Amino acid sequence: MSKISTLIKPTRIPAAAGGIQINYCKNPACQNYGVPALEKQSGRKQMNDGYMASGGGASIPVLKCKLCGEFPPIKSNIAVSEELARLLADLIPASDPSCPDLQCASHNIPVNSGKGHYQSYGMTHSGSKRYLCKGCGKTFTVSSVSTLRQRHSDKNQMIFSLLMNKSPMRRICEVAEINPRTLYQRIDFFHEQCKAFVAAHERPLLEGMAIPRLYIAVDRQDYTVNWSNQHDKRNVVMHAVGSADHGTGYVFGMHLDFDPSLDPAQIEVDAATLNDQAISYPFRRYARLWLKSDYTDHMRQRSRMRKRKSGVARDVTTDVADTYDAFADRLDVEVPLSQSFDTTLPDKGMQVHGEYTLYGHFLYLKRLFGGVEKVRFFMDQESGIRAACLSAFCDEVKARKTDAFYVRINKDLTVNERRHAIAISRSEFDIAKSNHPGLKDSEVEIQLIQNRLLNMAAIGKWSDRWLLHPFPSMSEPEKAICYLTDYGDYAADHLARLYSKASLHSIDRFFMQLRRRVSLFERPITTSSAQGCSWFGYSPYNPEVAMKLLMIFRVFYNYVAVGKDKKTPAMRLGLAKKKVCMDDIISFSPN
Ligand SMILES: [Zn+2]
Ligand SMILES: [Zn+2]
Repeated sequence: MSKISTLIKPTRIPAAAGGIQINYCKNPACQNYGVPALEKQSGRKQMNDGYMASGGGASIPVLKCKLCGEFPPIKSNIAVSEELARLLADLIPASDPSCPDLQCASHNIPVNSGKGHYQSYGMTHSGSKRYLCKGCGKTFTVSSVSTLRQRHSDKNQMIFSLLMNKSPMRRICEVAEINPRTLYQRIDFFHEQCKAFVAAHERPLLEGMAIPRLYIAVDRQDYTVNWSNQHDKRNVVMHAVGSADHGTGYVFGMHLDFDPSLDPAQIEVDAATLNDQAISYPFRRYARLWLKSDYTDHMRQRSRMRKRKSGVARDVTTDVADTYDAFADRLDVEVPLSQSFDTTLPDKGMQVHGEYTLYGHFLYLKRLFGGVEKVRFFMDQESGIRAACLSAFCDEVKARKTDAFYVRINKDLTVNERRHAIAISRSEFDIAKSNHPGLKDSEVEIQLIQNRLLNMAAIGKWSDRWLLHPFPSMSEPEKAICYLTDYGDYAADHLARLYSKASLHSIDRFFMQLRRRVSLFERPITTSSAQGCSWFGYSPYNPEVAMKLLMIFRVFYNYVAVGKDKKTPAMRLGLAKKKVCMDDIISFSPN
């Protein structure tokens, strides 16, 4: 078992990887923002670059920014670039797969380039080919799904439709008269089709399609995956991060902290050979992945943490303050708490450390947003999301092309409390309106926000200033907003307009639809007695199935489902001319 206090720290900060170096101050108000610490270890005690590197109080390595006093945790650039590569693979056609290991010499050499580099290594259950890479000695799979091999392909549309309309897996098998194995093969096939379809349709974004403004809401959603080992009844909890645009509803990414391409047994052996556990976290070869020893460390860390109060009726300001307190309790402020005592790691594929999926997600968005003139992010109050956003979009923030806001919504209110909040705001609005009879409603709103901006509450360790949004809705009854990239360079009314747009509704709506329409993602019904060990009726057995369904549903949501305006999100954004039918996706061919 590794002792946290004696971990080896080979250099000052990890070397850049794939052009990525994220070890810098993430405070937008600081001169060091986006200026990386120097990589080389010097003979002198200190390096003259505005940072001090240390193991930190509990030996989580951190930088200290000498200019603003912040302590950004040191992170692995290899892990970030590996995660970005994993996510970007969805946008790249699967015709020329190669060894997925970024550090392997064969990484960009396609599998079809012959026996010199790869050797065939059997098939997986779902019919994907497995290869042994001669460069690094590891195996990987390449999915090869085709309609030609499929019997009953006439049932595809029915199965697709059942999947998107809340039919449990067992029921789909009954209705379509297929066995579970066929159903999972069909899910693989739909996933491949959706991937090819969306890669072709989102290509304009990668090529810099011009978009004047995007208002992007970002949040995370958790899923419980059933145990698959009968001797270990704990569940695996997965987390997805999603980003959706307010104006069009388009969901740009929905990324699960799970890498199905890896074999945990193989990686554990490799990590042991490299003695990875003896090295400080961000310097490890496998910094991106949850190894068994990380899980043990995490449990030990968790057991030391204070129990947070819950179930107390409270307002959004207390909620914001409590969340900041919880950040301060973390050993690493960027690491969202993910595992609890009754959860475990998946035994097929590997779970990714949450903060690296967040970094990967925002860097992925950055690739898609090359042609967007201005992007505003509205994000759930989570320091991992903040760090990932402010580092991926650092240049754009500095160039004043990107702004970021925290949005906190108190969802604990009852229906009556929500109505009450709306009534109060309505009367405040009516008074303001009668005081300014010449103004339009929207102008009165901006006026009210402007007034509130003059006296905002400073909350938490960083004294961030939060605005209580004056116009609640039933879905966002109490809403507080914090402007994270405030350079004081916007006029009061411009600023008020940005605050007025702050909301998480676009990503919330997607999350809700996902829970409602795909039975596997239905919120598990927890009972206080057997919580965590209960068999959640429709939860997927295998996280890879969940991951595939997330992608399938994202494509369905963006391209098939129309809103009141008879348009799909893709039509509103300009990525599709008309509503797409499920059949168009099933029969899609990129050529
Ligand atoms: Zn700083
Ligand atoms: Zn390799």
